[in-house]
Order: sequence, then structure tokens, then C-alpha cells
Amino acid sequence: MNPLPTLFVGHGSPMNLIEDNAWSRGFRALGTSLPRPRAILAVSAHWFVDGTFLTAEPRPKTIHDFGGFPPALYELQYPAPGRPELAERVRGLLDAGLRTDWGLDHGAWSVLRWMYPEADIPVVQLSVDRRLAPKEHLRLGRSLAPLRHEGVLILASGNLTHNLRDAFGRMRSGSSDTPDWAARFDRSVAAMLEQRDDAALLRAAETDDGRAAHPSPDHWLPLMYAYGASAEGDALGFSSEGFDLGSISMRNVRFG
Ligand code: ZN
Repeated sequence: MNPLPTLFVGHGSPMNLIEDNAWSRGFRALGTSLPRPRAILAVSAHWFVDGTFLTAEPRPKTIHDFGGFPPALYELQYPAPGRPELAERVRGLLDAGLRTDWGLDHGAWSVLRWMYPEADIPVVQLSVDRRLAPKEHLRLGRSLAPLRHEGVLILASGNLTHNLRDAFGRMRSGSSDTPDWAARFDRSVAAMLEQRDDAALLRAAETDDGRAAHPSPDHWLPLMYAYGASAEGDALGFSSEGFDLGSISMRNVRFG
């Protein structure tokens, strides 16, 4: 079996759950461009906790982990099945814990809803341990690489720039300008990925632009999993690029 690609997607605003826009169309196009996976391992920025955990329930619930949005968003469900055997398999690779008290949060299902609208591919979610350094996340990502040969799509979901204070400020003032730090950081990360510059990637969030782009690293660290699971010879592609709310990078990264 050819290895499946590994992905990092920028999920952006929960409004992308219902809006037909460039981002939701991009997720849909990404789904149709991929070989059909047997299962999906989703690494979500929104499960940022003290530990590495996997969802192990056969029927993960749809978590509406956002506030202040139109009622239509809370009525949506993404009833994809879980895959306890996959959770068990990944636990063996990562030394992670199994949990049955989470489900699918919007980091995962806001994208999967467009990529696989039938919700017929099993999904397991993986948390991001907030206690770990970037290099430890990268090491965990590398441990996931064998899954690509087992028909498992690794889908890491965050945003390459994610400063909500800045984005909400722009929304209030009606400005959709992209600040220089966001454009520079987004571009420089793309270049680091092209060069496979591990050292620069591991330091990136600590630079001035990186701190502006990520006041908290939750939306940054999922990239370490997608990149970690990629290989030297993988083709690199950016299926979507651009910014939402001025400063939130919506760049999607595909390896392989
Ligand atoms: Zn988010």
C-alpha cells in the first residue's frame, strides 16, 4: 500500500462549519483529492491538555466547543464512528492514554465535515500535551509515520498563525488587513517546511513573529505531528493559502 499523505489544516473560525466560502470549499477539494483512508487520526488544537490521549469510544460524540455562534452550528452533528482498535494501535506507538470522555471537537469535525461529508470513515482524536516542548511533539509525530502505510490519514488541525485578540480587534474595527508579522510568519514557516529545517521549526514560535502569531502554542503544535509523520521524499503542497479575519493563516499543508 502506498503511504497516505499527512496533513496540517488551518481550521479557523467555527463559522466555516456552515459557510460556503473559500476555506470550506478548500477542505472539500482536499478530501476529494486524497486516496480514501481506512481511518483518520485527527490531532486537534482544541484538545490541549496535560497528557497525550486518544479517543477510544466506538461512537464519539460531536463536541460543540465554541460559544456565541448562531444556533445552526450547535445543531450540526458529525456522526463518524470511532475505531477503538486504532486507538489501541496508536497507544502502542506513543505510550498514550485511552479516554472515553471526549469525542470529536470542532478542530477535527469542522474540517472533516467538508472533507468527508458522509461521516463514514472512522475517526480517532489525539490530544496535544501542553506540558511538552516542540521537539517532544515532533518526536511523537515521527512515531505516527507507520500509520501512513496502514491506510490511516493523519490530519493535524490548528492554524499557522492564531492570535485571537488581534483577529477579534480587526473584526470589531472592520479591518481585514493582514499584519506584517502574520504574513512574515506564515511565509517563513512555509519556507522552513520546504527546506525541512527542523531546527528553525522548533524555534519558530519563540521568535518575535512567532510570539505574535501564537500567544499560546495550541494551534501551532499540531504542525509538529503532520511534519513529524512526513518523510524526506514527500512532495510538499499547500492546497489553500490566505488569511481569515486578517491575521489567521488558513494555509493547509500536505506532505506526500
Ligand atoms: Zn481553533
